[in-house]
Amino acid sequence: MMPVLPIQSIATTEERLHLGRLIVLTGPSGVGKGTLMRSLLKRHPELYYSVSVTTRSPRPGEIDGKDYYFISRSKFEQLLTEGEFLEWAEFAGNYYGTPREAVLNQIHFGKLVVLEIELEGARQIRASFPSALSIFILPPSFDELEKRIRDRAQDSEEAIARRLLRAQEEIQAADEFDIQIVNDDFETALNDIETVLFK
Ligand code: 5GP
Repeated sequence: MMPVLPIQSIATTEERLHLGRLIVLTGPSGVGKGTLMRSLLKRHPELYYSVSVTTRSPRPGEIDGKDYYFISRSKFEQLLTEGEFLEWAEFAGNYYGTPREAVLNQIHFGKLVVLEIELEGARQIRASFPSALSIFILPPSFDELEKRIRDRAQDSEEAIARRLLRAQEEIQAADEFDIQIVNDDFETALNDIETVLFK
């Protein structure tokens, strides 16, 4: 994979004046970050949401090119060796990655670019973009998180178990992030994110 260059090293001084910023939104599966993200985008269409690439199968209602780009494992591995991802990770048996070029272009256009990604990817972004703002969404409790994952009823028991295990690991890393927001009351959590982004 090609090294991920920090944005500062690939921009001229003038371009830097117009640089946007990377926002990383992370949190355990089922915490509601997807729903928060969709509401945020509705209220702030000026944000650029980076559509990720995944090898997971689409869930009912998910649209290729809008929710994710759904591709095969072999295609993902090919893109990976070609250096097409800004970050990537394996999560619950599937690959996920952020397309590099689209995101870098949007930052150069001065956009606020939002990535909704898991912990390993967030760590990669923090290493290559120290100026990125990282936000971790926490559930009100672990029991509530388990309930939300089960209520979604879209994953197999095995997938649920894997997601719960990973959720525990992710929550332990919440302190690594610049900001932690608890998604108990949805409106409050959304307002908290808006305050952080636009204050
Ligand atoms: P889901 O399968 O529930 O849509 O996503 C599983 C996890 O993968 C979530 O935590 C989600 O934020 C994360 N994810 C989605 N896209 C990406 C990506 O491009 N890179 C990384 N590292 N994680 C992602």
